[in-house]
Amino acid sequence: MDRVREPRPELGDISPYDAKDVRAEVNLSANENPHNLPGELLEKLADRVRFDVPFNRYPDPMATRLRGLIAEANGLDAGNVLVGNGGDEIILDVILAWGGPGRKLVDLPPTFSMYGIDAWMTGTRVVDVPRTPEFEVDGPALMRAVAEQDPDIIVISNPNNPTGTMTPETLLIDLLEATDALVLVDEAYFEFSRQTMRPHMSRHPNLAILRTFSKAFSLAGLRAGYLLADASVVRELTKVRQPYSVNRFTQVAAELTFRDRVVFEAGVREAMRNRDRLVHGLSQMAEVAVFPSEANYILFRVDQAAAVWRDLLHDHSILVRDFSRTPGLEDCLRVTVGSEEEIDRFLKAMDEIIARKHASAHFGINATANRHLERNGE
Ligand SMILES: *Cc1c(COP(=O)(O)O)cnc(C)c1O
Repeated sequence: MDRVREPRPELGDISPYDAKDVRAEVNLSANENPHNLPGELLEKLADRVRFDVPFNRYPDPMATRLRGLIAEANGLDAGNVLVGNGGDEIILDVILAWGGPGRKLVDLPPTFSMYGIDAWMTGTRVVDVPRTPEFEVDGPALMRAVAEQDPDIIVISNPNNPTGTMTPETLLIDLLEATDALVLVDEAYFEFSRQTMRPHMSRHPNLAILRTFSKAFSLAGLRAGYLLADASVVRELTKVRQPYSVNRFTQVAAELTFRDRVVFEAGVREAMRNRDRLVHGLSQMAEVAVFPSEANYILFRVDQAAAVWRDLLHDHSILVRDFSRTPGLEDCLRVTVGSEEEIDRFLKAMDEIIARKHASAHFGINATANRHLERNGE
């Protein structure tokens, strides 16, 4: 054949998930830990790999050792824990098992885009309950949607990515009481917010909590995440998951990291200090509105955000995340709390970009034209 037939017609409307693999000297776009694994952990990992990891054998499908450690640390049984190839895989598993054609997912935009993407991919109907202008969950609207639509899944990013907003525990408890839908509370940033719904699991078998090794624990490149849920929920998810999705190398690295997780506490505290500096620095800038955040990133609104994003990248080699085309996030950018040097460099670049915009506005020419003149030495 000299051609391939068309895929599912629905793909026509969709553009690929744009993970923006753009090279920049300073990457503040993906909420990763700015530091690689500490040296002593890398050495332990190298030892384990040298002597103790048969790469020729399939991995343990349920990551039994890692699962046991996570269960113990959370005061749960191994049956309450599911390990996945990043939190993203578990989100898809949840939607595969609780969603599908004829079923509904409540989404709370603006929020993490994977919920909506996975729902679409699985033919799950999405019921959007938009957040308030301050990005808080609209409690009455959510309760109305639950009563009227009888959804099968409700997903809440807590704190919410990309806005940084926390949803009050009382609202989440009301929700858990009002519905038997599976309520997925995505605590990807739990190590920074230090708030969890874990204490409510025993009373609410419909509560599932997602965590990840990608943010505080420096393992974004290895893909590991986990779910805490009722054993019956975990059992259903094992029916839809890819059995060997978490490879041996990742299992070993996540085990060592989880055992030594106290060493990441310093990094979390460093991130909290740097977040304060970042918020302080941004709020000094006249055109910038900063939203409060309980996580390791900050959302801010700035005039001509797309142009600011471009100037950060092209003139300063700093990559942040552009949300300016996302409904509800017009003129918003999200910046990860990087290292102290990265934050300094970012703030300095923002100052320059804004000062230049001011100057060019003053002279009645646009910033791009102005820069062009500068570059040509005119
Ligand atoms: C980063 C993130 C995840 C999970 O990321 P993985 O790297 O797949 O573990 C899940 N939810 C939210 C809201 C995130 O920001």
